[in-house]
Amino acid sequence: MQKLINSPTQLITFNNKNFYIKRDDLLHPDFSGNKARKFFYFFDNEFDSIDTVISHGSNQSNAMYSLSVLCKLKGWKFKYYTNHLPSFLTENPQGNYKYAQEFGMQLIVGEYNKKTIGLKPNELFISEGGAIEEAQYGIKILAQEIKEWKKEKEIENLKVFLPSGTGTTALFLQKYLEDEVLTCPCVGDTKYLKKQFFELEKDETNHPTILTPPKKFHFGKLYKENYKIWQELKQQTNIEFDLLYDPIGWQTLLKYQKKNILYIHQGGIKGNETMITRYKRKLGII
Ligand SMILES: *Cc1c(COP(=O)(O)O)cnc(C)c1O
Repeated sequence: MQKLINSPTQLITFNNKNFYIKRDDLLHPDFSGNKARKFFYFFDNEFDSIDTVISHGSNQSNAMYSLSVLCKLKGWKFKYYTNHLPSFLTENPQGNYKYAQEFGMQLIVGEYNKKTIGLKPNELFISEGGAIEEAQYGIKILAQEIKEWKKEKEIENLKVFLPSGTGTTALFLQKYLEDEVLTCPCVGDTKYLKKQFFELEKDETNHPTILTPPKKFHFGKLYKENYKIWQELKQQTNIEFDLLYDPIGWQTLLKYQKKNILYIHQGGIKGNETMITRYKRKLGII
């Protein structure tokens, strides 16, 4: 089985400021970003009794796509429950949905309920977005890569930044890094993110620092300024970032004017396809 590579780090200039970017989007052609880090535990270990993964969440989730790749690499079946599947998507498969199907995902429209549906001994359940303890296995490796890079480059006062969904990646990264980890909520508000942190770690001193975004964004909704900053990033840095989390991350980061930032590019590019279509349709942006 192929190994994940140590992702490269590069220095970029954006709006006349320098940032280091950890290119986790380049980990592997199909299995990349923070979902690859979070699911690396399952990739890297043997599970003799397991032949099926069960998960649930939205019909365009990055986690869904990465799980479909994981299952393909492991030779496992993948059953994914989603509450909502619009007919335009089944008629015009695109984005994460399309690629997950190509990797053999079996989609079930409906609610997954462990109590009523149950879990057979050959089935492995992975909760929505990969907010799981096992995620720290791969995130610890990410932390080690950062430590080695920092030592080699002799960088002092480093701060690591990454935008959060469930907060799992940021929390485990802080657990294994001495440098301060900064993050911002993209799903829900600061209170929600804090609650997520407490669910994974009781000791608040081990939590990442939460920076509040410049305004309230509703997750998955379209905002002109989000598309604009995404486009500017692409033009100025030649890097394609994700359209869901990164525009909020960058706007937050610019607001706080922090120095010596290592920004973690957490992948998610496959999901941009549907976001770009939506932006073009709804806002008339080309
Ligand atoms: C899933 C995802 C996140 C959020 O990760 P969490 O560990 O849930 O905080 C951020 N960026 C991208 C591109 C993602 O796919």
